[in-house]
Amino acid sequence: MKIIMLGAPGAGKGTYAKGIVEKYKIPTISTGDIFRQNIKEGTELGKKAKGYMDAGELVPDELVCDLVVDRLEKDDCKNGYILDGFPRTIPQAEALTAALKEKGTGIDFALDIEMEDQAIIDRMAGRRVCAKCGETYHAVNIPPKAEGICDKCGGNLEIRDDDQPETVKKRLGVYHEQTAPLIEYYRTQGILHEVDGNLGLKGVNNKIYEILGE
Ligand code: ADP
Ligand code: ZN
Repeated sequence: MKIIMLGAPGAGKGTYAKGIVEKYKIPTISTGDIFRQNIKEGTELGKKAKGYMDAGELVPDELVCDLVVDRLEKDDCKNGYILDGFPRTIPQAEALTAALKEKGTGIDFALDIEMEDQAIIDRMAGRRVCAKCGETYHAVNIPPKAEGICDKCGGNLEIRDDDQPETVKKRLGVYHEQTAPLIEYYRTQGILHEVDGNLGLKGVNNKIYEILGE
């Protein structure tokens, strides 16, 4: 099963992907996580990506596409995967379609998590991430057991650099301009499924499981 998560930044793609991972035992490939890992490790890729990310802009397509296509060749992807944060532009989607077509396959489901901008802005204000392991929380919706501390590893919870309110607004603008056109792209391919992002964690998960089937 090959799945793409669509939706604005902060709509919860990563959180819902976690539910799919547990139920269907396929890995998530998150380009945002890959970049953040590279920034942490100080790699060449990380250095190139950081400026764009901190500004709320997209990393150029040529830095993203090969990276993802290579990652999909790995063994753990052979039964399927969830793409979280990729594709984010029409050229990225076309590169993915072409790479999969070459292997005689394609994406099965594109899940679009729908939310209004204002709901996202409100939600992002509460988002926290573990500085050590990258686990995400929400001050109100998904609180850690102890305030400011990661349940999984005991690391400190922080606000991501690009979750500052001004950067969030910028990212939403970039989303509407460059990423939202993917909704029509996948509708045309006949694999688009729209999910109301306001149903709460459980409600959205259930809706997703309904779409993906048992
Ligand atoms: P969110 O979904 O909350 O926006 P991500 O972790 O997916 O956060 O992405 C964070 C940042 O990483 C983006 O704002 C962008 O700069 C960069 N990024 C991630 N994926 C891509 C991609 N496919 N193409 C270009 N830039 C990307
Ligand atoms: Zn942690």
